[in-house]
Amino acid sequence: MEAAVAHYTATGNRKFLDCLCRYADYIATVFGPGPDQIHGYPGHEEIELALCKLAAASGNDAYLKLAKFFVDERGREPNFFVEEAKREHRYLTYDLANRQAHVPVREQRKVVGHSVRALYLYAGMADVAGATDDAELLQACERLFENLVERRMYITGGCGSTPMGEAFTVDWNLPNDTDYAESCASMALVQFARRMLNLTGRGRYADIMEQALYNGALSGISLDGTNFFYANLLEVDENTFTHGVTLKERVPYFDCSCCPTSFCRFLPQLGSFAWSSRPGELRLNIPAAGEATLEGITVEVGGSYPYAGEIPITLRSAGKFRLSLRIPGWCRHHELKLNGRPVENAPLDGYVTIEREWQVGDRLDLTLDLPVEAVRSNPHVTSNAGRIALMRGPVVYALESVDNGRVLPRLAIRTDRPFELIPAPGLPEGTVAIRGTARKDEDDSDGHLYYTGPRRSSECDFIAIPYALWQNRGPVDMAVWIREA
Ligand SMILES: [Zn+2]
Repeated sequence: MEAAVAHYTATGNRKFLDCLCRYADYIATVFGPGPDQIHGYPGHEEIELALCKLAAASGNDAYLKLAKFFVDERGREPNFFVEEAKREHRYLTYDLANRQAHVPVREQRKVVGHSVRALYLYAGMADVAGATDDAELLQACERLFENLVERRMYITGGCGSTPMGEAFTVDWNLPNDTDYAESCASMALVQFARRMLNLTGRGRYADIMEQALYNGALSGISLDGTNFFYANLLEVDENTFTHGVTLKERVPYFDCSCCPTSFCRFLPQLGSFAWSSRPGELRLNIPAAGEATLEGITVEVGGSYPYAGEIPITLRSAGKFRLSLRIPGWCRHHELKLNGRPVENAPLDGYVTIEREWQVGDRLDLTLDLPVEAVRSNPHVTSNAGRIALMRGPVVYALESVDNGRVLPRLAIRTDRPFELIPAPGLPEGTVAIRGTARKDEDDSDGHLYYTGPRRSSECDFIAIPYALWQNRGPVDMAVWIREA
């Protein structure tokens, strides 16, 4: 359905769209609230958001009604999956929460179950809430989003703490070397956050959308675009216990074709994450370089964000409208100039807005401070105790053995020493790496599993590269969270 909508949007040709409309018409005869219909809903959510897209593209609200039915019926008593199992004289062999069908979605307070299913469900809920002006459903989305980002999301925007059920677990449980964090889950989080951003206008949603995009989503694909991670670990070494999925190296394909094909849908949508519009207003959410045309207005963005914070923005169209620029939540200091002159720019909900009669060639210069930040975890996250992660802007960094040797667990970063920015060795031109100082513990074990004696350590440099680009220089050990000296 999404492919049909994309085809119609790109070509104006209705052939594919009409075909999928007929298919959706048929689904709507089988499933629905009527006495002769099945009061069921998908085991793996995703059709909800596709039906909303189909409704918008075709102008037929029947598809929106069906999406709303799937959303509202989910988890209601008597539970469809339980009844189905009874009818078929079998035991229910799976956990209802894994399919987010344990209680009605409006009563769900925590993100649970299969992480990709969950996030596509929430994206569909946001679509239905927006299209039907359903404040209660939007509130449910807001609650789930907050539980996710404050309790259950990896710093990379990775979602799913365990391969068992490819699922969320409990609050604060974020193991780094046995997680799942499926590529699709981060892509789905970007989709959910984008919808919440467009519905509410709040910069917080843009912050998470950007964090998941630049880290946990893009880590799923190799630099040359031909190899993929299914699960995205945050720590890999010689002992990493793999659970049937290739975790240490990206591969060309999987038995389940899920993640690689998701990228085919995800990457062409980058423009819609970077930019959005509301009546009379253009919104720059992610100031990545490029040219955008929205509502007949063309704007060009230069610079090399997220590696550089100096962002020139040039108007290629004239007219009276509002232009809103996001000031990210992580940014402690920013400056804005219009045609060389500083402008008043107190952000509201994460955006500064300028309204004027724009002329062709008008230029805005936005500067976002991009220092290296040592990020710490809430102490409840025991797997990160005593450790820090390095971020610069939205980019999460990781250490690889190719730069640092196979000693990553023995390193402790000195945050009292300066960090230096250097060109990332062996990665595309313009990629910024971080160099700093670490304390390295000596190995005095003499081959024993346990030993006693004083700790000896020395000082060394370390190099960190953007997490999304790890494992592009051969097989390596890697770690995001490193001990702090
Ligand atoms: Zn996937």
